[in-house]
Amino acid sequence: MLPRPKKRLGQHFLTDRHYLDRIVAEIDPRPGEAIVEIGPGPGALTERLAQAVRPLHVVEIDRELAAALRDRFAPEAVVVHEGDALDFDFATLPEGLRVVGNLPYNVSTPLLFHVAGFAPRIRDCVFMLQKEVVERMVAAPGTADYGRLSVMLQYRFAMALAFRVPPGAFTPPPKVDSAIVRMAPLGEGRRAARDEALFARIVAAAFSQRRKTLRNALRQLVDAEAFAAAGIDPQRRGETLSVAEFADLADAALATQAPATPAG
Ligand code: SAM
Repeated sequence: MLPRPKKRLGQHFLTDRHYLDRIVAEIDPRPGEAIVEIGPGPGALTERLAQAVRPLHVVEIDRELAAALRDRFAPEAVVVHEGDALDFDFATLPEGLRVVGNLPYNVSTPLLFHVAGFAPRIRDCVFMLQKEVVERMVAAPGTADYGRLSVMLQYRFAMALAFRVPPGAFTPPPKVDSAIVRMAPLGEGRRAARDEALFARIVAAAFSQRRKTLRNALRQLVDAEAFAAAGIDPQRRGETLSVAEFADLADAALATQAPATPAG
């Protein structure tokens, strides 16, 4: 029997066998892989993943559900990390980690940012999320869905929407459609900004008021010289810039901000 779902923890349990099968097929777990499942809940996905991988790691915040998982699975089969996935140190798990889960939608954006911080150790992620969030993640420049989430995640990951999942696949059904997204880190060859904190500040500022030109939105961060050096017209709006152009702009801003070497 399913436990009573707690709304504040975003608990919508996947109960449709067809979609469970498709998600497991999309993950395609293989013996010897290091896999961590975020938010296992009552364990429908957990059970199938644990048949392929030993040990499977899971991170569950709900004390009762974590205890039930410990009762149900031997510790050699499933290692239950009870706690908040937003604080979980994925670096404690082996490199080449695969991160999967039907994520709690109420914390999905901070969770994606947290996981992105471990990208160099991650082989891939397969997540179920609200469909609109997945559409924002994979959006191309110049589209209405393209924004901070798109740029910050596309900076580190190649991403694709795998398939959609209707509300009826869950108990209780959520009010929104869901979708499976696959994320693969871009690796060392990607276009990396020299100062990633500055890159993140520029991206956030560029999208904080979407209608503003870059000149106005980035007044505090990027001067005319930096726009010229990056070859980016300051009359453009943030939503038209590619991820690589944001990196160019951040590098140019860093160069023009750099303090002059003190005179000898
Ligand atoms: N995987 C299960 C399934 O598909 O039936 C449950 C999915 S449910 C949408 C989300 C799960 O994440 C719940 O079990 C919930 O308790 C857990 N959860 C919510 N917030 C969490 C957090 N911050 N850290 C870890 N788990 C969390």
